[in-house]
Formats: sequence, C-alpha cells, structure tokens
Amino acid sequence: MMKTNLDTLVPAYVREFEPYIPSKPDDELKKLYGCQNLYRLNNNENPLGPPPGAQEIIRRFSPPRGAVYPSGDSYYLRQEIGNINGIDPDQVVVGNGANEVIAFVVKAFCQQGDNIITTDKTFAVYEWVATFSGIKAKLIPLKNERFDDQAMLESIDENTKVIFICNPNNPSGTYWSKDTLIAFLDALSGRQMVVVDEAYFEFVENEDYPNGISLIKDYPNLIVFRTFSKMYGIAGLRIGYLAADLAVADMIRRTCVVYSVNTTAQEAALACLRDDTGHIAKTRALVCASRAFLREELAKLNLPIIAGEGNYLIVRLPGSDTLAYRKLMREGIMIRPMTGFRYPNDIRVTLSKMEAMEAFIAALKKMLET
Ligand SMILES: *Cc1c(COP(=O)(O)O)cnc(C)c1O
Repeated sequence: MMKTNLDTLVPAYVREFEPYIPSKPDDELKKLYGCQNLYRLNNNENPLGPPPGAQEIIRRFSPPRGAVYPSGDSYYLRQEIGNINGIDPDQVVVGNGANEVIAFVVKAFCQQGDNIITTDKTFAVYEWVATFSGIKAKLIPLKNERFDDQAMLESIDENTKVIFICNPNNPSGTYWSKDTLIAFLDALSGRQMVVVDEAYFEFVENEDYPNGISLIKDYPNLIVFRTFSKMYGIAGLRIGYLAADLAVADMIRRTCVVYSVNTTAQEAALACLRDDTGHIAKTRALVCASRAFLREELAKLNLPIIAGEGNYLIVRLPGSDTLAYRKLMREGIMIRPMTGFRYPNDIRVTLSKMEAMEAFIAALKKMLET
C-alpha cells in the first residue's frame, strides 16, 4: 500500500486544530434519546420560519433551474441591499452564510505572523477560522459580559489586522452603543480592520444601538456582517453578507469562491428584505414574550440568567451543562451546552414559541428534582 505522510503534508496549525463536531440529524437524535418530539432551542433559529414571500420562492423553485448556475455575485440581492442601506451594491459581498464571509475577511487581510483580536466568550467561528488558517487569535476576556474596548485597544500590536466585535454578542446579549463603537473606531484611526458582526441586528430595538452599515462612509476600515439565518428564518439555505467600503469590498471579493451562494437562497433572501407582512414585528413580539416568561420562571427556580438582546439567553445551572444536555434531550428539548463557549455549567436557550418555552421549563424542573 502507498503511504501518505500527513505529518509533513499538513501544516501543524491544521493538524493540531480540534475539529468541530456537528450535531446528528434530528431523526437520529430522536432515536438516540428516545423522544417523539424535538424542540430545537440550540441554534437561535426563528420558529416562525421564513416570511411568506420567501416561502413562496422556496415552494415554486422550478426543477430544471437546478441545472443552471446561480448569479455568481448575487446581483439582484446586492442591488436591494444597496438600495435599502443607501450604499453602492458593489460594497456588498454575499456568502454561503455569514460563516463564509468570516473566512473571506481572514483570507483577504491575514498572512502568517498576523493576528486577530476578539473575545473568549463569543461566536467561536472568528477564532476557529483564524486558528486553522495559521493566524493567532488573541482573546480578550469580556468585562461585565461586554466586549472590553480598552483592553482590546491595549492588546493591539503591529501584527494585528482584524478585530472582531459581535454586536449584540452571542451568547451574552450585550452590545456596544453607537458612542462606544465610534469612540473605538476613532481610537484606531484606520490602522486595523474592524468587523462588527450584526447577525442579530433585526432583533435590537434600542435607540442607542448602532447600524454599522451607516458608519462605513466615515470609517473605511469597518466591515459589517449580516445574515438571513436568524431573523429571516432561512438558515437552511445558507446566506449572509458583508458590507464595507468600496475599495475594501473589492479586495475581499478577490478571496471568495464564485457560485457558493445558490439560486434559491439569493431569491428567498431578496423576498425576505421585501416582506411587508410584519414578519420582523411578529418575531420580535414572540421573542419578547418568551424572554419575559423565562425570566420569571427561571427566577422562581433560583437559576441565574444572562439575558440581553437577541433571540437567546444563558441559564446558569448548578451542575454540568453537558449532562443537562443529555437529560433535556430525553425530554425532547435541545439546548446549547456552553462549555465550548467557555461558560462552564451554562446553557444557551433560543427564545422560541411559548409552547417550546413551557416544555423547556417543565423538563428543567424535572431535571432539577431528580
Ligand atoms: C448564527 C451566527 C452567524 C452565522 O450565521 P450564518 O449566516 O448562518 O453562517 C454569525 N455570527 C453570529 C454571531 C451568529 O450567531
């Protein structure tokens, strides 16, 4: 047999990277845990699904179109994003989920020896993409559950290329106000790129919450991420985008693989943006009611929570989060154990339909009693 020496072929930073293990399909999980029904409260999905216009696009996809390549640069979708935000469509780069645009940015700006800065308790993909690309990720601890602007500024060195801010943060729900973000950008004076990940932008209603895209004209080092996976309910179609200064977007576009965004995703995303049935308002109302319900019920159980913006909250358990995952799964409740996010003993729960919230509380009570 021929031999292949992976130790010499594969860079150390890939060999040493601990792979992410995706969850099994729902049907397999149901068999494994012996539950009939499964409430998915682990991925911050929208239980209302996509808005009606997007549902129609998905239903009507004509099979022969499966043979035809999609628009290579999401042409019509970028036009609409440009119109809505008052920017040039060429400032927009669309990807196979916001996850893919993270990789575009790291590829465009970082080479061996460079580093990125983010925090230890946030969406882990920034750190992962950097690490398996051989780029160091400096993780600056949160301060009072918030990104620590001062400590991040102090940790910048001559090799720092990109700073990733998750606003609001997944999972802590905290966010930087417009004043905080502007002061941070002013302090950098354009020397590093700043990514503001606004995956939960559409959930935040507070006056002082900044719309990153509106700041790009003043700060050409700013890159803003948005996704159709959360509020717009098309996570399964995989589509997200970034907006940046024209020259920046032009550089980033060089690093993306064309045709990674499929036709249905592009057309459904366009329909999401054109929704006039109040999908966002309905989703916000549902999230708000569920957050209030869980606050009250978890207080009765004396379980501390971290809750802010976004369609999720964190619950601190008296015992192991991974054990809680298994016990709750047996009751048909799937939550996100937070050890991987460096919150040991905590779980993150998606704010979903009331029926699911009630089932979660019932399962939690049962777990705490046994
Ligand atoms: C869900 C999520 C994303 C990724 O979204 P996709 O578009 O589905 O890849 C990005 N950032 C944060 C903070 C998220 O929670």
